[in-house]
Amino acid sequence: MTSSATFVIVGGGLAGAKAAEALRDNDFGGHVILFAAEEHLPYERPPLSKEFLAGKKSLDEFTVHNSDWYRDHDVDLRLGARVSLLDPAAHTIGLPDDTTVRYDKLLLATGSASRRLPIPGADAVGTYYLRTFDDAAALNSALTEGSSLAVVGAGWIGLEVAASARQRNVDVTVVEAAKQPLSAALGETVGKVFADLHRDHGVDLRLQAQVAEITTEADRASGLKLSDGSVITADAVLVAVGAKPNVELARQAGLAMADGGVLVDASLRTSDPDIYAVGDIAAAVHPLLDCRIRTEHWANALKQPAVAVAGMLGAPTEYVELPYFFTDQYDLGMEYAGHATDSARVVLRGDVSGREFVAFWLDDDNRVLAGMNVNIWDVLDDVKALIRLKVPVDPDRLADPETPLADLRTG
Ligand SMILES: Cc1cc2nc3c(=O)[nH]c(=O)nc-3n(C[C@H](O)[C@H](O)[C@H](O)COP(=O)(O)OP(=O)(O)OC[C@H]3O[C@@H](n4cnc5c(N)ncnc54)[C@H](O)[C@@H]3O)c2cc1C
Repeated sequence: MTSSATFVIVGGGLAGAKAAEALRDNDFGGHVILFAAEEHLPYERPPLSKEFLAGKKSLDEFTVHNSDWYRDHDVDLRLGARVSLLDPAAHTIGLPDDTTVRYDKLLLATGSASRRLPIPGADAVGTYYLRTFDDAAALNSALTEGSSLAVVGAGWIGLEVAASARQRNVDVTVVEAAKQPLSAALGETVGKVFADLHRDHGVDLRLQAQVAEITTEADRASGLKLSDGSVITADAVLVAVGAKPNVELARQAGLAMADGGVLVDASLRTSDPDIYAVGDIAAAVHPLLDCRIRTEHWANALKQPAVAVAGMLGAPTEYVELPYFFTDQYDLGMEYAGHATDSARVVLRGDVSGREFVAFWLDDDNRVLAGMNVNIWDVLDDVKALIRLKVPVDPDRLADPETPLADLRTG
């Protein structure tokens, strides 16, 4: 690729910033233009619901690079610039003011937006969502000591905010439609660990409950009305019902789609040979897992860009990292690696009620699909090795903390 080539990155989150970094690290000498819809320098989102709300970190501590870095690396960062058009045939992107920019290669890293609820009160003042730093700053101002917060959804973000809010002496009620928190991701047995954790910290957790309405008083959110008619009063409401990938550009451009995201091969290339996609939007063929997978995880945004950039520079490689996720809530920290199916069987190892354990998910042949270590910090490599090996393990030995995980690798 000549030094007059132009590589355009659309999306100024972690993935977009890491892609710009990877291009320069690989001595790409052409133009790099990074379009970012937000006004802030690209930053990492996990601290928004954790350390930022807990008052332990400020934005500059989780900003990916400071402004000098973009200048020093000759990255043309356009903040507050939302790309509104993509024309793969002409190799151009367009902005709302009708300017167009030609690209040689394009990377889509447009991430996700908060899912909205189609119920009354969803847009009222005092109803919050959490995706951006501006969202977090607004929510932060609402969480004053002694106030009350109602959270819709006991997923990762809802629970992390509940934990941060309880630590600030905010009264918290969490309403969840499923039988247990996080049951879609972890199943009911492990989900209950999180239910107990939050109840132990004073959260009023309402399970199998449907929110019918966000109630308002003088046009301000005043709480929730549930479908059984019961009412929860609150000074603020957080809607945390998941994320929706930002795929409008890709869809409008006619790129192949899959799993709600943009279809990419193992090298993260889309159906157009000059366009790549990474992060939350990428539905990628995973060579090791033998399936296509799209995950909304920080680790993908961190590591996929280097692989996509290799392909953009003409030296394609494959993304083979196992899916990885983490959370911190009160004194519980956990890491999750792998990809469990709905039918997977759970094996628990360690002290579950004491919240120091490892959970494994096994397929019908007793091969480890995924593992989650809770408050145990020296096992992640062993867990990943078991997943990668794909050999049957003895579930009884797996459940026995006296059997070293490394001994199970031989099947
Ligand atoms: C509060 C919160 C807590 C989280 N905690 C964890 C955690 O503990 N662990 C974990 O693994 N993951 C966590 N995640 C998920 C993780 O942050 C995401 O997976 C990650 O941010 C995805 O990165 P991305 O760069 O693909 O997209 P994003 O971070 O969503 O960034 C995409 C950026 O592109 C911009 N954009 C979109 N469309 C356009 C356009 N047309 N033109 C220009 N710019 C555009 C968006 O405005 C956005 O700034 C959390 C997410 C949130 C919101």
